[in-house]
Amino acid sequence: MARGIKLFKVLGIQISIDWTWFIVFVLFAWSLSAGYFPFRHPGFTPGTYLAMGVVSALLLFACVLVHELFHSYTSNRLGLEIREITLFIFGGVAELTKEPDDPATEFKIAVAGPLASGLLALVFWLLSALFTGEAYPVVNAILSYLALINIVLLVFNMIPGFPLDGGRVLRAAWWARTGDVDRATRVASLIGKGFAVFLILSGFLQMFTGNFTGGLWSVLIGVFIQQAAESGYRQVVIKRALEGLKVKDIMSKDVVTVPEDKRISEAVDDYFIKYHHATFPVTSNSHVSGLLTLNKVRNIDKSEWERKSVGEVMEPLGPKDTLSPDDDAIEALRKMASEDNSGRFPVLDKGGKLVGILSRTDIMKLIEFRAGLQK
Ligand SMILES: [Zn+2]
Repeated sequence: MARGIKLFKVLGIQISIDWTWFIVFVLFAWSLSAGYFPFRHPGFTPGTYLAMGVVSALLLFACVLVHELFHSYTSNRLGLEIREITLFIFGGVAELTKEPDDPATEFKIAVAGPLASGLLALVFWLLSALFTGEAYPVVNAILSYLALINIVLLVFNMIPGFPLDGGRVLRAAWWARTGDVDRATRVASLIGKGFAVFLILSGFLQMFTGNFTGGLWSVLIGVFIQQAAESGYRQVVIKRALEGLKVKDIMSKDVVTVPEDKRISEAVDDYFIKYHHATFPVTSNSHVSGLLTLNKVRNIDKSEWERKSVGEVMEPLGPKDTLSPDDDAIEALRKMASEDNSGRFPVLDKGGKLVGILSRTDIMKLIEFRAGLQK
């Protein structure tokens, strides 16, 4: 989730917002100032409602942030480092750098957020009792809303479907009872998906029976949970399969390289046809100078294959195209997935010497293989 806009740091954790957050912010501010506040607290001017809507939406954002910070703080204290929190469409995501090793840790991290929301609800409720509706009508309206919305956040997050907090609690409980973390993850994410389908269907039903806005929210939240359940599950499988592995543990050590001065025709006959790889590192004076890809070769007219050399058509090698033997396998996968690349990465040691090669397909096969063993 690197597409966040970086805001500031709290407790050493980078806080970012996803661009989708702006859409939700406007929707919230608008629906509060045009719907909720005039309905619940009639008698103010439109300007006052607008101010109430914007202030409440901003404070709601702060509450979501506190919720995520409680998760992150707990997580960091338990040794699972969190470096970044991204706030996006329906709340926030604190990105765990690794998965918890035991159910108790998972449970503590999961409940910390809802606990924060519960505490915030209590604080806002007490404040609303202090700043009464008679003496401070506007302030009281905002405080009451914040008390209510924190209860909503608490309840919503405790829905027992992974990757929501409730789903993580369920996963921890199942894991503690059976000792089988993978099955626990599958069950929790299946329940998450089931709940998402329920929200989507009931949302459509509401949309067509008169409650359009409420129904639309329900559908949107359902789609969000569905996607999160899917990608959350995949991430857990990948993290568990690759945890603790370095590039040097999984790379292929015998690398076939093509010398820069070969003709294209020779590269096709002696390399592409012979070895079935789509990419080869190109060497000159035993140094890797670039990558020769099948795509590049295909784009060159056959009549020129005899004339052109590999060095003339290879892609130059940038820092984004190589790995180091000590890179984490998970980081390597992220690098391979994020860029538009050939899918095969030369592994270079500190001196720039070629020590191996790692392909996306190799990594995917390994994940499949190890996930199969964990069943
Ligand atoms: Zn949470």
